[in-house]
Amino acid sequence: MPASTTNAHAIHGAISRLNDPHYTRWASQIRRSGGCRQPIHLRGKVEHWDTATGTLLHRYSTRLEPDGVLRVPCKTRRASRCPSCAEVYRADTYHLIRTGLVGGKGVPESVTAHPCLFVTLTAPPFGAVHTRRERNGKMLPCHPRRDAQVCPHGIVPSCTARHQPNAESLGEPLCPGCYDYTGSVLFNALAPLLWKRFTDALRRHLAKSGDLTLRDMREQLTVAFAKVAEYQRRGVVHFHAVIRLDGPSGPGLDPPGWATADVLAQAVQHAADAVTATTPAAAGTSARVLRWGREIDVRPITLRGDLTEQAVAGYIAKYATKAAECVGTLDRRIVPTEDLALLPVREHARCLIAECLRLGAISGLAGLRLIHWAHMLGFGGHFSTRSRRFSITLGDIRADRAEHARTEAVSTGRLLLFDEDTALVVSDWHYAGRGFTPGDALLAASITKGSVSSPGDGGGV
Ligand SMILES: [Zn+2]
Ligand SMILES: [Zn+2]
Ligand SMILES: [Zn+2]
Repeated sequence: MPASTTNAHAIHGAISRLNDPHYTRWASQIRRSGGCRQPIHLRGKVEHWDTATGTLLHRYSTRLEPDGVLRVPCKTRRASRCPSCAEVYRADTYHLIRTGLVGGKGVPESVTAHPCLFVTLTAPPFGAVHTRRERNGKMLPCHPRRDAQVCPHGIVPSCTARHQPNAESLGEPLCPGCYDYTGSVLFNALAPLLWKRFTDALRRHLAKSGDLTLRDMREQLTVAFAKVAEYQRRGVVHFHAVIRLDGPSGPGLDPPGWATADVLAQAVQHAADAVTATTPAAAGTSARVLRWGREIDVRPITLRGDLTEQAVAGYIAKYATKAAECVGTLDRRIVPTEDLALLPVREHARCLIAECLRLGAISGLAGLRLIHWAHMLGFGGHFSTRSRRFSITLGDIRADRAEHARTEAVSTGRLLLFDEDTALVVSDWHYAGRGFTPGDALLAASITKGSVSSPGDGGGV
């Protein structure tokens, strides 16, 4: 924790918490919330009633808890909001993806033999940006153009630098005046629709390869996928996806012999090339046809090849905990009346946010909700999604954990074991706030080994 946040106010708060007679109970709440940076405060009660006799078997109320509240983990997936809860989400996502690739927990191991690809769909270019280029392990100059003409903004669109991996300029346009901010923002807004059309087209292409109608193909084959959105430095999303072929009822049955990894790869390429999404024409902007970029990466996932199932699961899980803040924008909504000049973001992100607010105010484009998603640079889709039968679900993993916690609580005598048929459970919970006071944050950090920081330190991954 930075020394500047350890101020007199925080120390005073920490001392009064330590002197509170309920301190031990408070500390145990904090330990159980696993280092959550912004725990949710709940007020309420749970009662177990015997349905046969009408007697109260057990009663728990937060009335006797410290400050009258129970502190539970926020469970965010976003590492910028709460590193420890995001870590739980990351680990769960990792297990979920890996189970979908190698089996286990009810998914048969024979799933490893199913055709399975790791596919990256990118956005098209919206103008030259500073970039790191490598070929055969050798760094190349960023954007060298010997015969480049000076643009209308007086800039020569050429850059011969070999940028460092963390260079500030990476992803920034060579000329912001020439950069197509409109296209970038609209692409982000339509990316979920493009993805939907891609999956539809993929199924159509597969059916064609098998000489089947779509309806007949469903009797033989299903397409399972898990995808995650990642922001490129230039502020557009691209998608990484695991795409797998299964038999008609999911991973338990093999797909037909004709549905090979090669057939799947061809169908992916065809579908990605074929689909488009058109933005509505509106005052001052004409309709635009958007499509995926030409850089489509399709690689087989193998147990012992270049791209292993661990690598893929790790990759997907990592991006599942990130959002647009990775490109230096904000992790909160923006109101149109805000002074954008004051936002603590990169200049490029500021221009993208401004373009979201400008386009969002045009009535014909209202359906894209660009003002609502300005802080996400126009993207309003899900970051991490799976098709129904890809693997086990996050819910399954969480239920497993809850069951484990319950069993432990019962075996250690902290929870009474009731027969569910004879006990009526009445619970009543209310949200009563979240987070820590500066003093509590200080103590929580020492209890959970520094994984908690005080409010107002700006977050950060
Ligand atoms: Zn949390
Ligand atoms: Zn450059
Ligand atoms: Zn220019």
